Amino acid sequence: MDKYGVFGNPIKHSLSPTIHTQFAKQTGINISYDKILAPINEFSSSARQFINQGAKGFNVTVPFKLDAFKLATKLTTNAQTAGAVNTIKVDGQTLIGENTDGIGLVNDLVKNLNINLKDKVILILGAGGATRGILLPLLKQRPKRIMIANRTTSKAINLAKDFSSHGKTCGFGLEKVKHEPVDIIINATSASLDGKMPDIANGVANGSICYDLMYGTQTPFMNWAQKNNAKMVVNGLGMLVEQAAAAFEFWTGKQPGTQKVIANLRS
Ligand code: NDP
Repeated sequence: MDKYGVFGNPIKHSLSPTIHTQFAKQTGINISYDKILAPINEFSSSARQFINQGAKGFNVTVPFKLDAFKLATKLTTNAQTAGAVNTIKVDGQTLIGENTDGIGLVNDLVKNLNINLKDKVILILGAGGATRGILLPLLKQRPKRIMIANRTTSKAINLAKDFSSHGKTCGFGLEKVKHEPVDIIINATSASLDGKMPDIANGVANGSICYDLMYGTQTPFMNWAQKNNAKMVVNGLGMLVEQAAAAFEFWTGKQPGTQKVIANLRS
């Protein structure tokens, strides 16, 4: 039986074991998949212990994605560019770090929701780890422009600069979000976790596709989008399943189907 798992703190509510168990069943691979609650300052020792027990790989969630980046001895381009790792594959002595968050979001938008991102104007709210992870895969779809708006302006400006060689990006403060149409608004802030809406009170017109990276509840951002006649309102459950599918393929070489898993979780 191949040993996998997910590290986080907290980790109790993680859906990853349910998702990976369904992928394993589909692809005929015999796996175990554990939830591991690592103490805040002990990610590295917990991960090493898991590896010594014969683990073939693991996922990493909040707040350990930067620790996982440091633990990895080899990085994929996605992980290197994102500066964060959410998936590690154990290959002998080598720990290969990957970041599948962006691939997960793009697959959900393009494959599941049939949204073509080419030449679209995208507004991302937030400039934290998730935004860093999704920028390169989004830019690879060749949108017209990606605007990053953040509560702390400097972080949005810096992030836009860091990715400017991959496509047209700009960064500004949340208060500068204008009342003009964009094709897609992605809420990548963690405001939803606190039951809050990022403060864009003056901003953004009707008709956008509104995507909240958070899943599990109807968020204030989703309520706001519905009230403002969004074209489509989506939460991040599809992204969660798609990033897991990319991790599963990274570990096993087998591509699992995601549609049924998403439908099961939604119901
Ligand atoms: P970080 O802590 O790295 O970044 C948080 C960001 O949110 C910062 O830009 C911060 O702004 C902003 N923010 C926090 N509170 C507010 C607020 N009240 N108003 C406006 N902005 C606010 O978090 P992550 O980037 O790692 O995660 C962001 C979200 O994405 C989380 O909800 C997470 O659950 C979700 N996520 C979902 C995934 C999925 O598979 N569906 C995968 C990864 C993440 P500032 O810089 O000013 O502090």
